[in-house]
Amino acid sequence: MDEHKENIYSHDVRLEMSDTRLAIEKSCSRLNADEDSSPDTSSPPANGDYSHPVYKEIALANGHINRMSKDELRKKLADLKLDTRGVKDVMKKRLKSHYKKQKLMQTAAEGGPTDTYYDYICVVDFEATCEEDNPAGFLHEIIEFPMVLINTRTLEIVDSFQEYVKPELNPQLSDFCVKLTGITQKMVDEAEPFPSVLEKAVAWLQERELGTKYKYAILTDGAWDMSKFLNIQCRLSRIRYPQFAKKWINIRKSYGNFYKVPRTQTKLSTMLDKLGLKYEGRPHSGLDDSRNIARIALRMLQDGCQLRVNERMHAGQLLSVPSSAPEEGAPPPHNPRSRD
Ligand code: AMP
Ligand code: MG
Repeated sequence: MDEHKENIYSHDVRLEMSDTRLAIEKSCSRLNADEDSSPDTSSPPANGDYSHPVYKEIALANGHINRMSKDELRKKLADLKLDTRGVKDVMKKRLKSHYKKQKLMQTAAEGGPTDTYYDYICVVDFEATCEEDNPAGFLHEIIEFPMVLINTRTLEIVDSFQEYVKPELNPQLSDFCVKLTGITQKMVDEAEPFPSVLEKAVAWLQERELGTKYKYAILTDGAWDMSKFLNIQCRLSRIRYPQFAKKWINIRKSYGNFYKVPRTQTKLSTMLDKLGLKYEGRPHSGLDDSRNIARIALRMLQDGCQLRVNERMHAGQLLSVPSSAPEEGAPPPHNPRSRD
């Protein structure tokens, strides 16, 4: 499943909405370049100042952890009553984060999740109409709109939303699409078109006081949910791109930066595997994908990663958000106006 998204990331030749396509291709290469050189800034000091002696202590502890064997790491984690699952790099990162958090708390320096951090993270994973090898010019339409809500304080999945969507341009699903996603023709025939489903999704977010009482961020697996699927869908439905979905956390980027692994190791199945987790449910079901992405996000938060918004859409272009940008939550959700 993930190969598809990964291929698209590096050299998409399928998206035919030419203006969007050019912009996305340009910004994808920019994003990849950014990521390769980016330091681990998953929990930087708020003022960007690393000169405090605590950072020297953290660096020394990290050096010590780097020299530990897998068995030593597992034993240390067990002694500290921390999770012992995952590959060596994951265990290392978990132990480092634990010491870092402790040291920063001891010195009352800033770092780790603070009171200003998002209260909630909302995972979105759209499913869309597709063909085998998606022929050139194929316009994907969203057919499933799922959301899974993570409480970042209790570190639990607290709620979920799921609606199927009736495609209007190609109302007939391909056999390939049905097999891939498990979404049947009946499910989409009985569903409402995208603008009505988006209204329900917005109402769901509003009822949970996200963006008003609570600070939240949207999280996706890759950039495509927003930069491709939602972007195309809004054009097809002739509605403006919704404000609340203009910035998000791309978990692949966060995962790669935090655990220091290349982009090739940030497919959903690989991320789960490396964390010692198994996929639960049916791959390519939007809701199950969202739940599994949420499980990765939870493990990253537990391991001390301060997941932050790292991508955004601006004027139809996908852009990178530098880690030095102020940590802003998504705005209160509203229904976008018509483009007409
Ligand atoms: P995913 O979140 O990986 O389930 O993918 C989202 C959407 O991308 C799917 O609903 C399909 O429209 C498309 N897609 C994913 N994998 C493939 C594939 N192997 N071939 C064609 N389209 C795909
Ligand atoms: Mg999916």
